[in-house]
Amino acid sequence: MKTFDKDLYRLPSGKNVEFEFYGHASLSIAYDGMVMYIDPVSTEADYTQLPKADIILVTHEHNDHFDKNAIENISSQNTILITNTDKIILNTDKIITDTNKIVLNTHETFKNKNKDITITAFAAHNTTAGRDKFHPTNRDNGYLITIEGFRIYVSGDTEMVEDDARIKNCDILFLAVNQPYTMTIEQAEHFAAVICPKVFYPYHTTDTDMDKLKETFAKYDFKTIIHQMQ
Ligand code: ZN
Ligand code: ZN
Repeated sequence: MKTFDKDLYRLPSGKNVEFEFYGHASLSIAYDGMVMYIDPVSTEADYTQLPKADIILVTHEHNDHFDKNAIENISSQNTILITNTDKIILNTDKIITDTNKIVLNTHETFKNKNKDITITAFAAHNTTAGRDKFHPTNRDNGYLITIEGFRIYVSGDTEMVEDDARIKNCDILFLAVNQPYTMTIEQAEHFAAVICPKVFYPYHTTDTDMDKLKETFAKYDFKTIIHQMQ
């Protein structure tokens, strides 16, 4: 089986948060015996070989983010599916029980019953004229995932629409960087400089010039880590 890059962060409690990077927009976050998948898509990993999901987050319906087969492969009767729209929910009717399907609108929060985890939806859309056809307003989500106070922001496909104080100073920042669908390097630089995370992960980078990206971000105090997420 293919192996993937992983990064581990130790929380003050001694528990770990471990990221696994499958590719493009697909990753997972493991914590205290549970696994959360973000935008699982079969072209990036063989999800039949991966552990079942406790939580699946889908940012939007595009096929590089939403894949019913991947969701099916990692779902059990306990899996919770969090999405931006009931369109995706309907598409997974036979896979996930009704009570475990949750639509989050902007600034709505899901709280996990058993662990100290909250997930808040943030708006994700294009702002540049002519690009709103890709990601119109009031449709897609980014997510702020908070685990024991450790804050991870995953942007989804968006330009900068959100400099909300709730994202500022987050620990981990994932920004999608590829034009014309998401951000230019300059837009990502501006976004990251405003948010000021501890660690920045560019993802969903497709044909972005990664040398230019590295050079652009080298001057910042926060760490920029690049994995195979094109
Ligand atoms: Zn998209
Ligand atoms: Zn995308």
